Amino acid sequence: MGRVSAGKRFDILLYVSKNGGIAVISDQKSVKYMEILLVEDNPGDVALTKRALKSGKVPYNLHVANDGADALAFLRKEGEYEQAPRPDLILLDLNMPRVSGQEVLEKVKSNEKLASIPVVVLTTSKDEEDIEETYKLHANSFITKPVDWQEFMNMARLVEEYWFSVVKLP
Ligand SMILES: [Mg+2]
Repeated sequence: MGRVSAGKRFDILLYVSKNGGIAVISDQKSVKYMEILLVEDNPGDVALTKRALKSGKVPYNLHVANDGADALAFLRKEGEYEQAPRPDLILLDLNMPRVSGQEVLEKVKSNEKLASIPVVVLTTSKDEEDIEETYKLHANSFITKPVDWQEFMNMARLVEEYWFSVVKLP
């Protein structure tokens, strides 16, 4: 994070997060970063998601877990994730080695402390069964990737709207 502009006259500061998100704040109040956990085993899809998120204006920290087991360790602050923040949003791939996205979703939504974290399920599958199953497991949203780039960009905008609705920047 770096301060790029300070205007004494207007009491406005602009911050650019390390991911390129920009926050406009006043009175030098600290910036609240949105903690996003991306659970995705495909490096190509990780890159696509990073690109989509960068188009938004939300200051965020992106954490990437490469499979479901990694994600659960992060959420439970186990081992190397002892200092991990509670994510404000989880972007979850379904098809992953070791522990599947469905399993992660089930664990998150049945855990009292984690259940309120919004989960957006990302998958290449347009299979209706998949969609139904994830909604049954209380996914908050479901999008297909990366076939529908527009939908992906819409996700970035949804993330942004969600964030500005819960965090009131001064
Ligand atoms: Mg996958």
